[in-house]
Parts: sequence; C-alpha cells; structure tokens
Amino acid sequence: MDPLYDVAIIGGGPSGSTAATFLVRQGHKVIVLEREQFPRFHIGESLLPHSMDAFERLGVVEKLDARFLPKYGAEITTSCGTNSAKIFFKDGLCAKHDRAYQVTRSEFDKVLLDHAAENGAAVLEKTSVESLDFGPDEVGINIKTEGETRKVRARYLLDCSGRGSVVGQYFKLKQNYANLKKFSVFAHYENVGRDEGITGSFIRLIRGRDRWFWMIPLTPTKMSIGIVLDIVDFKAMKKAPEQMLDDAIREQPQIWSRMTNATRVTEVHSASDYSYRNTSLLGDRWLLAGDAAGFIDPIFSTGVFLGIRSGEQAAHALHAALKNPLTRTAEFRKYEKNVNRVMDLYLRFVSNWYKPQFAEVITNPTHRLKLAATVNAVLAGNLSNSFSLWWRMEVFYLVVFLQRFFPLCPRVSLDPRQTVPSGVAN
Ligand SMILES: Cc1cc2nc3c(=O)[nH]c(=O)nc-3n(C[C@H](O)[C@H](O)[C@H](O)COP(=O)(O)OP(=O)(O)OC[C@H]3O[C@@H](n4cnc5c(N)ncnc54)[C@H](O)[C@@H]3O)c2cc1C
Repeated sequence: MDPLYDVAIIGGGPSGSTAATFLVRQGHKVIVLEREQFPRFHIGESLLPHSMDAFERLGVVEKLDARFLPKYGAEITTSCGTNSAKIFFKDGLCAKHDRAYQVTRSEFDKVLLDHAAENGAAVLEKTSVESLDFGPDEVGINIKTEGETRKVRARYLLDCSGRGSVVGQYFKLKQNYANLKKFSVFAHYENVGRDEGITGSFIRLIRGRDRWFWMIPLTPTKMSIGIVLDIVDFKAMKKAPEQMLDDAIREQPQIWSRMTNATRVTEVHSASDYSYRNTSLLGDRWLLAGDAAGFIDPIFSTGVFLGIRSGEQAAHALHAALKNPLTRTAEFRKYEKNVNRVMDLYLRFVSNWYKPQFAEVITNPTHRLKLAATVNAVLAGNLSNSFSLWWRMEVFYLVVFLQRFFPLCPRVSLDPRQTVPSGVAN
C-alpha cells in the first residue's frame, strides 16, 4: 500500500512543479502525477519579469539563464503599420527586473519538473488521474500508469492540471467568459526576420480589427507565431486551421515582410474557448492553482506567471494547513481571494484590449502622469495593491473609455491594406 502523502499534485506544468518544490522544501511528502512524459509540447512561451523573484526563490535562475533567451520587453503594432509602441521593462513604474525569458515550453517545463524531483518530490510521469474519492481526512486518487491502475492517498490535493481542470470538472465549477470566446492557431518557424539588438528579444503583438498576432523569438533562429480571433469568425471562414494561419500571415504585411526565408518547423496547433474561471478555488481537502483555477487570455502573456504565482501561494496555504489544521479555512480563503483579485485585474485589462479604440491608446504611450510606466509595470506582472499604481490605471481606463467618443489619440484603421487613418471612430 502506498504511503499517505501530505500533498498530491495533479499536473507537472509550471504551477504544479513550483508548488511541489516549495512544499518539499518545507518538509512535506509530495507526489506529482503527470499524464505526459516530459519533454512535451505546450503553448505559453513568453514570460513576465515579475516571475524572476519566484525563479530566484526556486533556485532555477542559473538553469534558465543557460537555456533560454532573455526578453527585455514587448512591441505592440497596429496591423495597418501606422503606430508601434515599444515597451522596455526597465522603464516600468518601480521596475525591479529588466527582463523575463522567452521559452520553448517543452524544455522549460522539464527544467522545473526535474527541479522538483531533485528537491525531493516523487514525480510519476505517464500517469493520468482517472477519478477521485474525497474523504473527511484524506483524498483517494485513482491513477493509471501505462495501463496499470492503483490508488494514491494524500491529506490534500492540489489541482494543477491546466485547462483540463480535473477537480473543476469533478465539481462542475467551470464557467467560461461569454465575451472571450476565442480561437487560436500557432506554430514554430525557422529564420523569420527579427530586429537586431535588444528589441530582437521582444514579443511582437500585432493588433488587427478582428484578430491579433504574436511573434515570440524562442531561440536565435526559431520563432513562435500565432493568431487569435473570435470563434465565430474562424468558423465563418470555413478553413482548416493550417490554411487559416498560412493565409492570415500572408495577408499581414507586418509579419509577411519578415517571412522571406522562413519555414514552418512544427505542425500547426490550435486551442479554442480557453477563457474561464472556476466558481470556487477551494474545498476542505483541495485547492486549485494555475490554469486549473482559471485562464483569462493569452494577450498579455500572464498564464505562466499566474501559474507560478498561484503554485507558490498554494504551497504556502497548504503548508500552513498541514502545520496547524485549525488555520486551514482562513488560509485557503485568503489564497482564493488573492488569486481572484489578480485574475480580476487582468480580466479588466484583457477586456479593454478587445475594444477597438484600445489599440489607439496603447500604441500612443504618454509619459504624462507616468501612465506609460504604469501600464508597462502591470504588463510586467506588477500586481501590487499600491495606490500609485491603482489610480494611474484608473486614469488609463478612463482615457480608453473617452477615446471611443473623442480622438484623444489619432485614429488608426487597423486594416493591413490601409495605412491612412479613415478619420472615422472605430
Ligand atoms: C493560445 C495560447 C497562448 C498562450 N501564450 C502564453 C504566453 O505567451 N505566455 C504565458 O505565460 N502563457 C501563455 N498561455 C497560457 C499558458 O499556456 C498557461 O497559462 C500555462 O501553461 C499554465 O500552467 P499550468 O501549470 O497551470 O498548466 P499546464 O502548463 O497546462 O500544465 C498542466 C499539466 O497537467 C497535466 N494533466 C492534465 N490532466 C491531467 C490528468 N488527468 N492527470 C495527470 N496529469 C494531467 C498536463 O499533461 C500538463 O502537463 C497561452 C495559452 C494559450 C491558450
């Protein structure tokens, strides 16, 4: 019979492996149950500077420095090419880190999962969680490893299973965002043209009227390119994802002009209707972290950052509950409140991104009231509750709202064939 673990974690992605490392370091007996054998493909390649502190606490900075490209900022361009804003993380309000990483996720996730194992977590790969039995004092987890089934027991269960959200499905907690029904198609390419120097490390976001693209440099020669649009628009095109991605790149001069020597080197992947939140992130014997708690949208590259952040915070809440069970309810509630606060913050930012006038404002950064530095800080993952950040973001959202009616910033067409602004409000 298996020993009783303190915590069983479903999923060995960034959230699960982060939580595992922090928990074993605090002296707990931890098992990670991962369906795949790493390395395995995963989307989510552009990280945020505010993860650097967690990487330092995990003790993985040297390993990451040795493998991955630094990311010093982001560039947001309108698809008509009229406007382009470069955001250097070093210029963010109270910036602590000037960089993050651009990562090939198969390698990055393996580094973090191996690190958890090196720190003492039991890691079972090729092991899927099939069903759960919740008791008053422990959880039974029925697993299947290469055809063989058995049961693992743990005092607590931490669900880091990503968008599959095993516990969320079990308790029927998942609620999709009606305004974020998006479809995304992506692939990796060799030899896509990029800037020389520091801006060559940037993620490039190209905002069209009904779609946006990302370009993420993963290695000195490899680039991830993806497109996001409404599911209904994708369906109306009646094209296979591969054809749609090829056509969309060809029709977008901001990308096509860099594709002269490019070749696609992976299959085309897609994801659909991925934005949701679970209505509860806690139970007596379980917590949800990372995408298993909720995922908002890929636009600001917040997924891995929030996964690592919530993984670390869940580890602290579980540690407190294991040490003193009387504090469990308060610790779990505090955890849930914190995760929800941050998801709300980014949900508002993301919902604004999809307003047509948002592109006109964000690609016209102003240094007045330090608004550009504030937006930069939030994009870098600064989630502090500080008043100075809060009121400036409120002013920023007010400008976005007013821009709909009055052109505080020049109008742009967002049409790749039309560089001259139409002069008409979008
Ligand atoms: C189109 C798109 C683009 C994105 N771009 C970015 C980006 O640029 N930057 C960024 O930070 N984020 C991005 N994201 C988000 C990012 O992919 C996720 O937020 C991130 O991977 C979450 O980490 P996680 O550890 O919570 O989950 P995951 O990384 O998904 O890990 C979950 C793990 O659980 C395992 N698992 C699932 N079910 C079971 C089971 N039943 N039993 C055992 N194991 C199981 C899976 O195999 C997986 O390894 C993007 C997302 C999408 C959809």
